[in-house]
Amino acid sequence: MTSRYRGRFAPSPTGPLHRGSLVTALASYLDARAHGGKWLIRIEDLDEPRCLPGMAEDILDTLAAVGMRPDEPVSWQHRRVAHYQAAFDALDAQGLIYPCGCTRREIADSLANTRARHTTLAYPGTCRNGLQGKAPRAWRLRVPDGDAAIISFTDRWLGQQRQNLATEVGDFVLKRADGPWAYQLAVVVDDAEAGITDVVRGADLLDSTARQIYLQQCLKMPVPGYMHVPLVLAQDGEKLSKQNGAQPLDRSALLSELAWAARFLGLPMTSDSAATLERFYECAIAAWGQRWVTCSPA
Ligand code: GLU
Repeated sequence: MTSRYRGRFAPSPTGPLHRGSLVTALASYLDARAHGGKWLIRIEDLDEPRCLPGMAEDILDTLAAVGMRPDEPVSWQHRRVAHYQAAFDALDAQGLIYPCGCTRREIADSLANTRARHTTLAYPGTCRNGLQGKAPRAWRLRVPDGDAAIISFTDRWLGQQRQNLATEVGDFVLKRADGPWAYQLAVVVDDAEAGITDVVRGADLLDSTARQIYLQQCLKMPVPGYMHVPLVLAQDGEKLSKQNGAQPLDRSALLSELAWAARFLGLPMTSDSAATLERFYECAIAAWGQRWVTCSPA
């Protein structure tokens, strides 16, 4: 059976793979394999100060050690800036981009002055009609007003989603004057060019999805399917990360780390299903397929 499914895992090399990132990698890998599709890796290394030297290689080594090998060469965002510029130019040609000179403080102050308390912090569009003599700090994408601002999609894990870009997000940044391309633009350009049909990633990115769908619409790119899987939380209730004490995976117990990740994703794993890597993937792919790919009768 040939499948058109193409999925990916897109780590930022800011720290070694830990239990949280293993869960996301595993979910994307199992979904690709259960669909008989391709699985790719993209290293999201645009935010240079946060990327640690050698960390991308370390992550790739760990993925190989747990048996997750990509079907095509790994792609690196730092090599792809010409593509982000081309997409930016295409949006600019549609009149959708404007420079913004607001500082974070100015945005917060103007929201405090003009909006009722408890509204979400959408950029209020201060620079839509010009910089008023300020230097540009960033370039923003104009989002539509009214009903056109509502983006809806069905998340395979979380169900129906809806976000009003105008009231919940506002015109969003595509590039900073002093910094790299924004994640939102890079991810959309890269997913489209790699022909990604299904994005499986952590639930912390659910909130970014409407922005990405809007960018896909503006750039006439296909909209992939989305699935946002639960996050592994640290003791402070935040997403597990290097900052809140995530430990690198135990290299001497990778099979138990994998079995833990599979159980975290709700897959029934018996003790013999993690006897070898081969056995683990056989069981985990079958269990994932049964839950998320084959429609089992109610
Ligand atoms: N680079 C992002 C992260 O490490 C993931 C981006 C994505 O999957 O869209 O959290």
